[in-house]
Amino acid sequence: MGSAQMQSVRDQGPASHDDAIVSRNPATGEVLGEVPVTSAADVKAAVARARAAQRDWAKVPVAERARRVLAFRDEILTRAEEVIELISREGGKTRLEALGMEVLVAVDLATYFCKRAEGILAPHPIPLHLLKTKKSYLHYVPRGVVGIISPWNFPFSIPLGETIMALIAGNGVVLKPSEITPLIAVKAKELYDACGLPRDLFQVVTGRGPTGAALIDGGVDQIIFTGSVTTGKKVAVACGERLIPCTLELGGKAPAIVCADADLDRTANALVWGAFANSGQVCASVERVYAHEAVYDELVQKIAERTRKLRQGNPLDDGTDVGAMTWDQQLAIAEDRVKSAVASGAKILVGGKRKATGPGMFFEPTVLTDVKQDMDVMRKEIFGPVMPIMRVRSEEEAIGLANDSHLGLTAYVFTKDREKGRKIAERVEAGTVMVNDVLFSYGAPETPWLGVKQSAVGRTHSDDGLRDLCQTRHIAVDRIAPKREMWWYPYSPRTYGFMLKAMRLLFRAKKRR
Ligand code: NAD
Repeated sequence: MGSAQMQSVRDQGPASHDDAIVSRNPATGEVLGEVPVTSAADVKAAVARARAAQRDWAKVPVAERARRVLAFRDEILTRAEEVIELISREGGKTRLEALGMEVLVAVDLATYFCKRAEGILAPHPIPLHLLKTKKSYLHYVPRGVVGIISPWNFPFSIPLGETIMALIAGNGVVLKPSEITPLIAVKAKELYDACGLPRDLFQVVTGRGPTGAALIDGGVDQIIFTGSVTTGKKVAVACGERLIPCTLELGGKAPAIVCADADLDRTANALVWGAFANSGQVCASVERVYAHEAVYDELVQKIAERTRKLRQGNPLDDGTDVGAMTWDQQLAIAEDRVKSAVASGAKILVGGKRKATGPGMFFEPTVLTDVKQDMDVMRKEIFGPVMPIMRVRSEEEAIGLANDSHLGLTAYVFTKDREKGRKIAERVEAGTVMVNDVLFSYGAPETPWLGVKQSAVGRTHSDDGLRDLCQTRHIAVDRIAPKREMWWYPYSPRTYGFMLKAMRLLFRAKKRR
Protein backbone atom coordinates (compact mmCIF):
# COMPACT_ATOMS: atom_id res chain seq x y z
CA MET A 1 0.00 0.00 0.00
CA GLY A 2 1.40 3.41 -0.97
CA SER A 3 1.47 6.15 1.60
CA ALA A 4 -1.30 8.08 -0.18
CA GLN A 5 -3.53 5.00 0.07
CA MET A 6 -2.50 4.53 3.69
CA GLN A 7 -3.41 8.12 4.39
CA SER A 8 -6.87 7.53 2.93
CA VAL A 9 -7.41 4.66 5.42
CA ARG A 10 -6.35 6.91 8.28
CA ASP A 11 -8.60 9.71 7.03
CA GLN A 12 -11.82 7.72 7.12
CA GLY A 13 -14.18 9.01 9.79
CA PRO A 14 -13.68 11.99 12.10
CA ALA A 15 -10.25 13.55 12.28
CA SER A 16 -8.28 14.53 15.36
CA HIS A 17 -8.21 18.27 16.01
CA ASP A 18 -6.99 20.68 18.68
CA ASP A 19 -9.74 19.82 21.18
CA ALA A 20 -10.02 16.08 20.59
CA ILE A 21 -8.02 13.03 19.59
CA VAL A 22 -9.63 10.32 17.50
CA SER A 23 -8.30 6.82 18.10
CA ARG A 24 -8.28 4.29 15.27
CA ASN A 25 -7.52 0.61 14.87
CA PRO A 26 -4.17 0.54 13.04
CA ALA A 27 -5.00 -2.84 11.45
CA THR A 28 -8.28 -1.71 9.88
CA GLY A 29 -8.54 2.09 10.06
CA GLU A 30 -11.80 1.68 12.06
CA VAL A 31 -12.57 4.58 14.42
CA LEU A 32 -12.51 3.33 18.00
CA GLY A 33 -13.34 6.46 19.96
CA GLU A 34 -12.40 9.98 20.82
CA VAL A 35 -10.84 11.62 23.88
CA PRO A 36 -10.55 15.29 24.83
CA VAL A 37 -7.33 17.29 24.80
CA THR A 38 -6.96 18.33 28.43
CA SER A 39 -6.12 22.01 28.94
CA ALA A 40 -3.28 23.14 31.19
CA ALA A 41 -5.82 24.51 33.70
CA ASP A 42 -7.63 21.17 33.85
CA VAL A 43 -4.34 19.31 34.29
CA LYS A 44 -3.51 21.56 37.24
CA ALA A 45 -6.94 20.94 38.73
CA ALA A 46 -6.47 17.16 38.33
CA VAL A 47 -3.13 17.36 40.18
CA ALA A 48 -4.77 19.39 42.96
CA ARG A 49 -7.56 16.80 43.34
CA ALA A 50 -5.02 13.97 43.40
CA ARG A 51 -3.07 15.83 46.06
CA ALA A 52 -6.13 16.26 48.26
CA ALA A 53 -6.92 12.53 48.00
CA GLN A 54 -3.29 11.59 48.58
CA ARG A 55 -3.17 13.29 51.99
CA ASP A 56 -5.50 10.65 53.44
CA TRP A 57 -4.01 7.84 51.36
CA ALA A 58 -0.53 8.54 52.77
CA LYS A 59 -1.89 7.94 56.30
CA VAL A 60 -3.12 4.44 55.38
CA PRO A 61 -0.54 1.82 56.50
CA VAL A 62 1.44 0.25 53.62
CA ALA A 63 -0.08 -3.22 54.17
CA GLU A 64 -3.60 -1.81 53.96
CA ARG A 65 -2.74 0.21 50.85
CA ALA A 66 -1.39 -2.95 49.25
CA ARG A 67 -4.54 -4.87 50.20
CA ARG A 68 -6.72 -2.22 48.57
CA VAL A 69 -4.58 -2.05 45.42
CA LEU A 70 -5.05 -5.81 45.09
CA ALA A 71 -8.72 -5.09 44.41
CA PHE A 72 -7.58 -3.15 41.31
CA ARG A 73 -5.50 -6.14 40.24
CA ASP A 74 -8.53 -8.38 40.75
CA GLU A 75 -10.66 -6.10 38.57
CA ILE A 76 -8.00 -6.35 35.82
CA LEU A 77 -8.02 -10.14 36.19
CA THR A 78 -11.80 -10.33 35.98
CA ARG A 79 -12.02 -8.10 32.92
CA ALA A 80 -8.75 -9.26 31.34
CA GLU A 81 -10.26 -10.22 27.97
CA GLU A 82 -12.00 -6.87 27.59
CA VAL A 83 -8.65 -5.14 28.22
CA ILE A 84 -6.73 -7.50 25.92
CA GLU A 85 -9.15 -6.90 23.07
CA LEU A 86 -8.89 -3.11 23.40
CA ILE A 87 -5.07 -3.22 23.60
CA SER A 88 -5.05 -5.33 20.46
CA ARG A 89 -7.54 -3.12 18.62
CA GLU A 90 -5.97 0.19 19.52
CA GLY A 91 -2.29 -0.81 19.42
CA GLY A 92 -2.18 -3.49 16.71
CA LYS A 93 -0.38 -6.16 18.74
CA THR A 94 -1.70 -9.72 18.74
CA ARG A 95 -4.00 -10.89 21.52
CA LEU A 96 -1.25 -13.20 22.82
CA GLU A 97 1.13 -10.23 23.04
CA ALA A 98 -1.56 -8.10 24.71
CA LEU A 99 -1.94 -10.86 27.28
CA GLY A 100 1.70 -11.90 27.78
CA MET A 101 3.47 -8.55 27.37
CA GLU A 102 0.86 -6.24 28.88
CA VAL A 103 -1.90 -7.59 31.13
CA LEU A 104 0.06 -10.48 32.66
CA VAL A 105 3.03 -8.17 33.33
CA ALA A 106 0.83 -5.66 35.19
CA VAL A 107 -1.01 -8.35 37.16
CA ASP A 108 2.22 -10.07 38.22
CA LEU A 109 3.84 -6.76 39.16
CA ALA A 110 0.83 -5.78 41.27
CA THR A 111 0.92 -9.13 43.05
CA TYR A 112 4.68 -8.98 43.67
CA PHE A 113 4.65 -5.48 45.16
CA CYS A 114 1.39 -5.86 47.09
CA LYS A 115 2.88 -8.89 48.85
CA ARG A 116 6.25 -7.33 49.56
CA ALA A 117 5.72 -3.57 49.85
CA GLU A 118 5.48 -3.57 53.65
CA GLY A 119 8.93 -5.16 53.93
CA ILE A 120 10.49 -3.13 51.12
CA LEU A 121 9.30 0.19 52.60
CA ALA A 122 10.07 -0.75 56.23
CA PRO A 123 12.62 1.48 57.96
CA HIS A 124 16.11 0.50 56.83
CA PRO A 125 18.72 0.53 59.65
CA ILE A 126 22.17 2.05 59.04
CA PRO A 127 24.62 0.67 61.62
CA LEU A 128 27.05 3.50 62.43
CA HIS A 129 30.62 2.27 62.42
CA LEU A 130 31.92 4.90 64.83
CA LEU A 131 29.14 6.76 66.61
CA LYS A 132 27.82 3.87 68.65
CA THR A 133 25.75 6.15 70.87
CA LYS A 134 23.38 6.83 67.97
CA LYS A 135 20.93 4.89 65.92
CA SER A 136 20.31 5.78 62.26
CA TYR A 137 17.76 4.53 59.80
CA LEU A 138 16.15 5.39 56.48
CA HIS A 139 12.49 6.23 56.51
CA TYR A 140 10.40 6.13 53.30
CA VAL A 141 7.70 8.76 52.87
CA PRO A 142 5.38 9.05 49.85
CA ARG A 143 6.45 11.82 47.47
CA GLY A 144 2.94 13.22 46.96
CA VAL A 145 1.58 13.28 43.41
CA VAL A 146 3.52 11.39 40.74
CA GLY A 147 3.05 12.46 37.12
CA ILE A 148 3.38 9.59 34.64
CA ILE A 149 3.91 10.32 30.94
CA SER A 150 3.82 7.23 28.76
CA PRO A 151 4.38 6.04 25.16
CA TRP A 152 2.14 4.07 22.78
CA ASN A 153 4.05 0.82 22.34
CA PHE A 154 3.02 -0.72 25.68
CA PRO A 155 0.04 1.43 26.63
CA PHE A 156 -1.02 -0.84 29.51
CA SER A 157 1.97 -2.56 31.12
CA ILE A 158 4.19 0.54 31.25
CA PRO A 159 1.83 3.15 32.77
CA LEU A 160 -0.16 0.65 34.84
CA GLY A 161 2.94 -0.92 36.38
CA GLU A 162 4.24 2.51 37.31
CA THR A 163 0.81 3.63 38.58
CA ILE A 164 0.38 0.55 40.77
CA MET A 165 3.86 0.96 42.29
CA ALA A 166 3.28 4.69 42.91
CA LEU A 167 -0.08 4.03 44.61
CA ILE A 168 1.35 1.30 46.85
CA ALA A 169 4.14 3.71 47.81
CA GLY A 170 1.42 6.09 49.05
CA ASN A 171 1.24 8.56 46.19
CA GLY A 172 -1.50 10.01 44.06
CA VAL A 173 -1.02 9.58 40.30
CA VAL A 174 -1.90 11.69 37.28
CA LEU A 175 -1.26 9.79 34.04
CA LYS A 176 -0.81 11.40 30.62
CA PRO A 177 -0.99 8.52 28.14
CA SER A 178 0.25 8.69 24.57
CA GLU A 179 -2.05 10.47 22.14
CA ILE A 180 -1.67 7.47 19.81
CA THR A 181 -3.27 4.99 22.27
CA PRO A 182 -5.35 6.98 24.76
CA LEU A 183 -8.37 4.65 25.07
CA ILE A 184 -6.47 1.98 27.01
CA ALA A 185 -5.61 4.46 29.75
CA VAL A 186 -9.24 5.59 29.87
CA LYS A 187 -10.24 1.92 30.23
CA ALA A 188 -7.69 1.48 33.04
CA LYS A 189 -9.29 4.41 34.89
CA GLU A 190 -12.72 2.79 34.42
CA LEU A 191 -11.42 -0.43 36.02
CA TYR A 192 -9.79 1.53 38.81
CA ASP A 193 -13.02 3.40 39.57
CA ALA A 194 -14.89 0.12 39.76
CA CYS A 195 -12.84 -1.28 42.63
CA GLY A 196 -13.50 1.16 45.47
CA LEU A 197 -10.18 2.99 45.66
CA PRO A 198 -10.33 6.79 46.24
CA ARG A 199 -11.48 8.16 42.87
CA ASP A 200 -9.35 11.29 42.74
CA LEU A 201 -6.19 9.47 43.78
CA PHE A 202 -5.59 8.22 40.21
CA GLN A 203 -6.50 10.39 37.26
CA VAL A 204 -5.96 10.27 33.53
CA VAL A 205 -5.43 13.44 31.48
CA THR A 206 -5.53 12.80 27.75
CA GLY A 207 -3.77 15.02 25.23
CA ARG A 208 -0.61 15.50 23.21
CA GLY A 209 2.85 16.86 24.09
CA PRO A 210 1.59 20.18 25.54
CA THR A 211 -0.64 18.26 27.99
CA GLY A 212 2.45 16.30 29.10
CA ALA A 213 4.35 19.57 29.50
CA ALA A 214 1.40 20.97 31.50
CA LEU A 215 1.57 17.95 33.81
CA ILE A 216 5.23 18.67 34.62
CA ASP A 217 4.20 22.28 35.29
CA GLY A 218 1.05 21.30 37.17
CA GLY A 219 2.51 20.93 40.66
CA VAL A 220 3.51 17.25 40.67
CA ASP A 221 6.28 16.02 42.97
CA GLN A 222 7.94 13.56 40.60
CA ILE A 223 7.80 12.63 36.92
CA ILE A 224 8.14 9.13 35.51
CA PHE A 225 8.60 9.56 31.77
CA THR A 226 8.88 6.83 29.15
CA GLY A 227 9.41 7.82 25.52
CA SER A 228 11.96 9.06 23.02
CA VAL A 229 15.37 10.51 23.79
CA THR A 230 14.36 13.81 22.15
CA THR A 231 11.30 14.30 24.38
CA GLY A 232 13.16 12.91 27.39
CA LYS A 233 15.70 15.72 27.17
CA LYS A 234 12.88 18.31 27.17
CA VAL A 235 11.29 16.58 30.16
CA ALA A 236 14.64 16.59 32.01
CA VAL A 237 15.04 20.34 31.42
CA ALA A 238 11.46 21.08 32.55
CA CYS A 239 11.90 18.96 35.71
CA GLY A 240 15.30 20.56 36.33
CA GLU A 241 13.76 24.04 36.25
CA ARG A 242 11.21 22.95 38.86
CA LEU A 243 13.74 20.83 40.79
CA ILE A 244 11.48 17.82 40.81
CA PRO A 245 13.00 14.35 40.42
CA CYS A 246 12.39 12.58 37.15
CA THR A 247 12.93 9.06 35.95
CA LEU A 248 13.52 8.82 32.21
CA GLU A 249 13.07 5.52 30.35
CA LEU A 250 14.18 6.26 26.78
CA GLY A 251 15.17 4.61 23.50
CA GLY A 252 17.13 1.46 22.82
CA LYS A 253 19.29 -0.04 20.08
CA ALA A 254 19.80 -3.51 21.52
CA PRO A 255 22.71 -5.49 20.08
CA ALA A 256 22.76 -9.29 20.08
CA ILE A 257 26.20 -10.93 20.13
CA VAL A 258 26.16 -14.46 18.74
CA CYS A 259 29.28 -16.42 19.71
CA ALA A 260 30.79 -19.24 17.67
CA ASP A 261 29.54 -21.80 20.21
CA ALA A 262 25.91 -20.61 20.39
CA ASP A 263 22.99 -23.03 20.23
CA LEU A 264 21.81 -21.82 16.84
CA ASP A 265 18.24 -23.09 17.07
CA ARG A 266 17.59 -21.37 20.39
CA THR A 267 19.43 -18.26 19.15
CA ALA A 268 17.41 -18.04 15.92
CA ASN A 269 14.13 -18.57 17.78
CA ALA A 270 15.05 -15.90 20.35
CA LEU A 271 16.24 -13.36 17.79
CA VAL A 272 13.20 -13.74 15.54
CA TRP A 273 10.86 -13.23 18.49
CA GLY A 274 13.06 -10.50 19.98
CA ALA A 275 13.09 -8.53 16.71
CA PHE A 276 9.49 -8.98 15.55
CA ALA A 277 7.32 -9.24 18.69
CA ASN A 278 4.93 -6.27 18.78
CA SER A 279 6.13 -5.55 15.21
CA GLY A 280 9.54 -4.60 16.62
CA GLN A 281 8.03 -1.68 18.52
CA VAL A 282 9.76 -2.58 21.78
CA CYS A 283 12.44 -0.38 23.35
CA ALA A 284 14.36 -3.62 24.05
CA SER A 285 13.83 -5.12 20.54
CA VAL A 286 16.78 -6.86 18.94
CA GLU A 287 17.87 -4.03 16.61
CA ARG A 288 21.26 -5.32 15.40
CA VAL A 289 22.87 -8.75 15.38
CA TYR A 290 26.65 -9.36 15.42
CA ALA A 291 27.22 -12.99 14.49
CA HIS A 292 30.59 -14.76 14.59
CA GLU A 293 31.74 -15.73 11.10
CA ALA A 294 31.97 -19.40 12.14
CA VAL A 295 28.16 -19.56 12.53
CA TYR A 296 26.99 -16.57 10.47
CA ASP A 297 25.77 -18.45 7.37
CA GLU A 298 23.92 -21.13 9.30
CA LEU A 299 22.35 -18.59 11.68
CA VAL A 300 21.21 -16.34 8.84
CA GLN A 301 19.60 -19.31 7.11
CA LYS A 302 17.77 -20.37 10.29
CA ILE A 303 16.57 -16.81 10.94
CA ALA A 304 15.35 -16.42 7.34
CA GLU A 305 13.47 -19.75 7.44
CA ARG A 306 11.70 -18.81 10.67
CA THR A 307 10.92 -15.27 9.54
CA ARG A 308 9.35 -16.49 6.28
CA LYS A 309 6.98 -18.67 8.32
CA LEU A 310 5.62 -15.78 10.41
CA ARG A 311 1.95 -15.09 9.75
CA GLN A 312 1.20 -11.39 9.59
CA GLY A 313 -2.36 -10.16 9.73
CA ASN A 314 -5.25 -8.98 11.86
CA PRO A 315 -3.99 -9.05 15.45
CA LEU A 316 -7.34 -10.32 16.69
CA ASP A 317 -7.10 -13.50 14.58
CA ASP A 318 -5.79 -16.52 16.47
CA GLY A 319 -3.43 -17.54 13.66
CA THR A 320 -1.55 -14.22 13.60
CA ASP A 321 2.08 -14.00 14.78
CA VAL A 322 2.83 -10.41 13.77
CA GLY A 323 0.16 -7.72 13.94
CA ALA A 324 0.02 -4.15 12.68
CA MET A 325 2.34 -1.30 13.48
CA THR A 326 0.71 1.19 15.82
CA TRP A 327 1.58 4.51 14.25
CA ASP A 328 1.92 5.52 10.59
CA GLN A 329 4.88 7.80 11.32
CA GLN A 330 6.78 4.94 12.95
CA LEU A 331 6.08 2.73 9.95
CA ALA A 332 7.53 5.46 7.70
CA ILE A 333 10.68 5.57 9.87
CA ALA A 334 11.17 1.78 9.64
CA GLU A 335 10.61 1.94 5.89
CA ASP A 336 13.17 4.77 5.54
CA ARG A 337 15.77 2.86 7.54
CA VAL A 338 15.41 -0.14 5.20
CA LYS A 339 15.50 2.00 2.04
CA SER A 340 18.57 3.91 3.12
CA ALA A 341 20.37 0.69 4.13
CA VAL A 342 19.62 -0.87 0.73
CA ALA A 343 20.81 2.29 -1.02
CA SER A 344 24.13 1.85 0.85
CA GLY A 345 24.56 -1.79 -0.14
CA ALA A 346 22.49 -3.84 2.35
CA LYS A 347 20.55 -6.85 1.02
CA ILE A 348 16.95 -7.69 1.90
CA LEU A 349 16.80 -11.40 2.64
CA VAL A 350 13.18 -11.47 3.80
CA GLY A 351 10.39 -8.84 3.74
CA GLY A 352 11.43 -5.24 3.24
CA LYS A 353 8.18 -3.43 2.44
CA ARG A 354 4.73 -2.35 3.55
CA LYS A 355 1.96 -4.89 3.07
CA ALA A 356 0.72 -4.28 -0.46
CA THR A 357 -2.97 -5.08 -0.12
CA GLY A 358 -5.83 -4.39 2.27
CA PRO A 359 -6.19 -1.66 4.86
CA GLY A 360 -3.98 -1.15 7.86
CA MET A 361 -0.39 -0.38 8.76
CA PHE A 362 1.68 -3.50 8.27
CA PHE A 363 5.40 -3.69 7.59
CA GLU A 364 6.74 -7.13 6.70
CA PRO A 365 9.14 -8.78 9.15
CA THR A 366 12.43 -7.93 7.47
CA VAL A 367 15.89 -9.51 7.61
CA LEU A 368 18.82 -7.48 6.26
CA THR A 369 22.34 -8.72 5.57
CA ASP A 370 25.49 -7.04 4.21
CA VAL A 371 24.94 -4.18 6.65
CA LYS A 372 27.71 -1.90 7.91
CA GLN A 373 28.09 -0.29 11.30
CA ASP A 374 27.87 3.24 9.89
CA MET A 375 24.41 2.70 8.34
CA ASP A 376 21.43 4.39 10.04
CA VAL A 377 19.82 0.97 10.41
CA MET A 378 22.72 0.00 12.74
CA ARG A 379 23.01 3.32 14.57
CA LYS A 380 19.52 4.82 14.95
CA GLU A 381 16.51 3.27 16.62
CA ILE A 382 14.29 1.47 14.05
CA PHE A 383 11.33 0.62 16.32
CA GLY A 384 9.88 -1.60 13.61
CA PRO A 385 10.12 -5.25 12.47
CA VAL A 386 13.62 -5.08 10.96
CA MET A 387 16.59 -7.28 11.91
CA PRO A 388 19.98 -6.30 10.41
CA ILE A 389 22.64 -9.02 10.78
CA MET A 390 26.38 -8.33 10.51
CA ARG A 391 29.25 -10.83 10.22
CA VAL A 392 32.09 -10.34 12.73
CA ARG A 393 35.48 -12.05 12.96
CA SER A 394 35.62 -12.37 16.74
CA GLU A 395 33.72 -11.88 19.97
CA GLU A 396 36.05 -8.98 20.75
CA GLU A 397 34.96 -7.23 17.57
CA ALA A 398 31.30 -7.88 18.44
CA ILE A 399 31.71 -6.35 21.92
CA GLY A 400 33.37 -3.27 20.42
CA LEU A 401 30.57 -2.81 17.86
CA ALA A 402 27.86 -3.44 20.47
CA ASN A 403 29.32 -0.68 22.63
CA ASP A 404 29.68 1.71 19.70
CA SER A 405 26.29 3.39 20.33
CA HIS A 406 24.86 6.41 22.13
CA LEU A 407 22.18 4.11 23.59
CA GLY A 408 22.46 1.35 26.19
CA LEU A 409 19.13 -0.07 27.30
CA THR A 410 19.36 -3.83 26.76
CA ALA A 411 21.77 -6.25 25.05
CA TYR A 412 21.89 -10.00 24.42
CA VAL A 413 24.67 -12.59 24.31
CA PHE A 414 24.29 -16.11 22.90
CA THR A 415 26.74 -18.86 23.85
CA LYS A 416 26.60 -22.36 25.33
CA ASP A 417 29.39 -21.38 27.73
CA ARG A 418 27.50 -19.57 30.49
CA GLU A 419 30.67 -18.38 32.22
CA LYS A 420 31.91 -16.81 29.00
CA GLY A 421 28.43 -15.35 28.45
CA ARG A 422 28.54 -13.75 31.88
CA LYS A 423 31.99 -12.26 31.23
CA ILE A 424 30.93 -10.81 27.87
CA ALA A 425 27.68 -9.51 29.42
CA GLU A 426 29.64 -7.62 32.06
CA ARG A 427 31.61 -5.82 29.33
CA VAL A 428 28.60 -4.70 27.31
CA GLU A 429 27.38 -1.18 28.03
CA ALA A 430 23.67 -1.64 28.70
CA GLY A 431 21.26 -1.41 31.64
CA THR A 432 20.29 -5.07 31.24
CA VAL A 433 22.25 -7.79 29.45
CA MET A 434 20.64 -11.22 29.05
CA VAL A 435 22.53 -14.38 28.24
CA ASN A 436 20.68 -16.72 25.86
CA ASP A 437 17.41 -14.79 26.15
CA VAL A 438 15.73 -11.59 25.00
CA LEU A 439 13.20 -9.03 26.31
CA PHE A 440 11.93 -11.09 29.26
CA SER A 441 13.16 -9.01 32.19
CA TYR A 442 10.55 -6.25 31.88
CA GLY A 443 8.17 -8.99 32.97
CA ALA A 444 10.21 -9.77 36.10
CA PRO A 445 9.14 -6.99 38.51
CA GLU A 446 11.89 -7.76 41.03
CA THR A 447 14.58 -6.78 38.48
CA PRO A 448 15.33 -3.11 37.79
CA TRP A 449 14.44 -1.60 34.44
CA LEU A 450 17.21 0.85 33.67
CA GLY A 451 19.71 1.94 31.06
CA VAL A 452 23.07 3.59 30.53
CA LYS A 453 24.20 6.38 28.18
CA GLN A 454 21.16 8.13 26.63
CA SER A 455 18.76 5.24 27.32
CA ALA A 456 17.72 6.12 30.84
CA VAL A 457 18.08 8.23 33.93
CA GLY A 458 17.00 6.35 37.05
CA ARG A 459 15.05 3.11 37.07
CA THR A 460 11.60 1.62 37.39
CA HIS A 461 10.55 -1.80 38.78
CA SER A 462 12.53 -3.62 41.52
CA ASP A 463 12.52 -2.99 45.27
CA ASP A 464 14.74 0.07 44.75
CA GLY A 465 12.30 1.33 42.12
CA LEU A 466 9.50 1.22 44.71
CA ARG A 467 11.67 3.11 47.21
CA ASP A 468 12.47 5.68 44.48
CA LEU A 469 8.76 6.56 44.50
CA CYS A 470 9.25 7.78 48.06
CA GLN A 471 11.28 10.52 49.64
CA THR A 472 14.12 8.83 51.46
CA ARG A 473 14.63 10.49 54.82
CA HIS A 474 17.38 9.81 57.31
CA ILE A 475 16.39 9.68 60.98
CA ALA A 476 19.08 9.69 63.70
CA VAL A 477 18.11 8.91 67.31
CA ASP A 478 20.38 8.99 70.37
CA ARG A 479 20.83 5.76 72.34
CA ILE A 480 22.25 7.57 75.34
CA ALA A 481 21.91 11.29 75.99
CA PRO A 482 24.83 12.96 77.78
CA LYS A 483 24.44 16.61 78.70
CA ARG A 484 26.57 17.57 75.73
CA GLU A 485 28.47 15.98 72.85
CA MET A 486 32.23 16.33 72.85
CA TRP A 487 32.24 18.52 69.70
CA TRP A 488 29.66 21.02 70.98
CA TYR A 489 30.45 24.31 72.73
CA PRO A 490 32.44 25.31 74.68
CA TYR A 491 35.59 24.53 72.66
CA SER A 492 38.75 23.97 74.68
CA PRO A 493 42.38 22.93 74.17
CA ARG A 494 41.60 19.84 76.25
CA THR A 495 38.90 18.70 73.84
CA TYR A 496 41.19 19.46 70.89
CA GLY A 497 43.96 17.35 72.39
CA PHE A 498 41.61 14.52 73.20
CA MET A 499 40.09 14.45 69.70
CA LEU A 500 43.53 14.51 68.06
CA LYS A 501 44.72 11.60 70.19
CA ALA A 502 41.53 9.65 69.59
CA MET A 503 41.77 10.19 65.82
CA ARG A 504 45.37 8.95 65.71
CA LEU A 505 44.52 5.97 67.83
CA LEU A 506 41.52 5.02 65.70
CA PHE A 507 42.96 5.63 62.27
CA ARG A 508 46.68 5.02 62.78
CA ALA A 509 48.21 3.37 59.72
CA LYS A 510 49.45 -0.13 60.51
CA LYS A 511 53.25 -0.20 60.71
CA ARG A 512 54.81 -1.63 57.56
CA ARG A 513 57.29 -4.40 58.19
P1 NAD B 1 7.51 10.35 22.57
O1 NAD B 1 8.72 10.87 23.26
O2 NAD B 1 7.14 10.94 21.27
O3 NAD B 1 6.22 10.53 23.51
C1 NAD B 1 6.15 9.97 24.81
C2 NAD B 1 5.13 10.74 25.63
O4 NAD B 1 5.62 12.06 25.86
C3 NAD B 1 3.77 10.91 24.95
O5 NAD B 1 2.76 10.72 25.91
C4 NAD B 1 3.80 12.34 24.47
O6 NAD B 1 2.54 12.95 24.32
C5 NAD B 1 4.59 13.01 25.58
N1 NAD B 1 5.24 14.28 25.24
C6 NAD B 1 5.61 14.75 24.02
N2 NAD B 1 6.20 15.96 24.15
C7 NAD B 1 6.23 16.25 25.47
C8 NAD B 1 6.73 17.34 26.24
N3 NAD B 1 7.35 18.38 25.67
N4 NAD B 1 6.60 17.29 27.57
C9 NAD B 1 6.00 16.24 28.18
N5 NAD B 1 5.49 15.18 27.51
C10 NAD B 1 5.61 15.19 26.17
O7 NAD B 1 7.72 8.78 22.46
P2 NAD B 1 6.77 7.69 21.77
O8 NAD B 1 6.87 7.83 20.30
O9 NAD B 1 5.43 7.72 22.41
O10 NAD B 1 7.47 6.34 22.25
C11 NAD B 1 8.49 5.71 21.52
C12 NAD B 1 9.82 5.86 22.22
O11 NAD B 1 9.70 5.44 23.56
C13 NAD B 1 10.90 5.01 21.59
O12 NAD B 1 12.09 5.75 21.50
C14 NAD B 1 11.07 3.87 22.60
O13 NAD B 1 12.34 3.27 22.61
C15 NAD B 1 10.79 4.58 23.88
N6 NAD B 1 10.38 3.62 24.91
C16 NAD B 1 11.23 3.38 25.93
C17 NAD B 1 10.90 2.45 26.90
C18 NAD B 1 11.83 2.16 28.05
O14 NAD B 1 11.39 1.53 28.99
N7 NAD B 1 13.08 2.59 28.01
C19 NAD B 1 9.69 1.76 26.83
C20 NAD B 1 8.84 2.04 25.77
C21 NAD B 1 9.19 2.97 24.80
